[in-house]
Amino acid sequence: MRMRKTAAAGAVVLALAATATACGGESGTAGDKPAGGEVYKGSYTVAKDVKVNSPVLKKAQKAKKIVVGVKADQPFLGFKDPATTKYSGFDIEIAKMVAADLGFSENQIEFKTIDSNVRETTISKGQVDYYVGTYTINEERKKQVGFAGPYYTAGADLLVRKDDKAITGPDALKGKKVCSITGSTPLQEIKKKRYGADTTEVGKYSDCVKYLLDKQVDAVTTDDAILKGYAAQRPSKLRVVGKPFTKEPYGVGMNKDDKTLRDAITKALEHHIANKDYQKAYEGTLGKSGSKYVAPETPLPRY
Ligand code: GLU
Repeated sequence: MRMRKTAAAGAVVLALAATATACGGESGTAGDKPAGGEVYKGSYTVAKDVKVNSPVLKKAQKAKKIVVGVKADQPFLGFKDPATTKYSGFDIEIAKMVAADLGFSENQIEFKTIDSNVRETTISKGQVDYYVGTYTINEERKKQVGFAGPYYTAGADLLVRKDDKAITGPDALKGKKVCSITGSTPLQEIKKKRYGADTTEVGKYSDCVKYLLDKQVDAVTTDDAILKGYAAQRPSKLRVVGKPFTKEPYGVGMNKDDKTLRDAITKALEHHIANKDYQKAYEGTLGKSGSKYVAPETPLPRY
């Protein structure tokens, strides 16, 4: 497990992490709710004879499968059940809706787990055809990948232990140990001097949550939509502070130069927002962890 610390005391945290892992710590799965809650599975009409002049899509049509990058450790969003190896959650449903409009049924989708820190490289190398995984659209990333959306807007928030009343918001983090994910926008934000936080970065959100439960860090920061999923799994141990301090508009990521694919995916998102597949999927997944439904604004931006 990789763990990087931005402050000098990194070695101490690493040593603690090793101890906690050896003892099992607080973070074992015993007593947890089923990860990701009840599994929602939408079914979407698959478009026939799709003719799109997109290099990425042409390759996928030839292979008769489409490769989609997703997350695997975000309950209610993108979650891979270790027992069944099946993926579920809101982002997985978005991925399926898009695939259907591009002419691919659910069993023609190959899901690939791609963590935040390697999204841009994986997409630009063509190792996935598109990516749906709590992926914030921003100008920096647009230099490397294309985006369709936003299909949802989250905000960075804080996950803390239930009995911790001291952390009331991002302004109460001075000297606190805060865990976040390499390559994510909330990590960039929380590293700003003004918060005074002692940041720890790892590759997977589930590791941050483990450290929080094992008291090696005081808070986890990332999007509220993600944190609410973790809190819903362990309501007696964790809570979300509820003071979002950034805007995180989620997009479907894809090859930067394939404008035809980008337009087709934008259209697919609009189609499923209009026919209510989107709302049904939302209520069957993210809605269950306490995120309120807000209809995305359409038409979506095109560029
Ligand atoms: N939405 C944020 C980002 O794209 C955080 C969640 C994530 O790492 O996927 O960086």
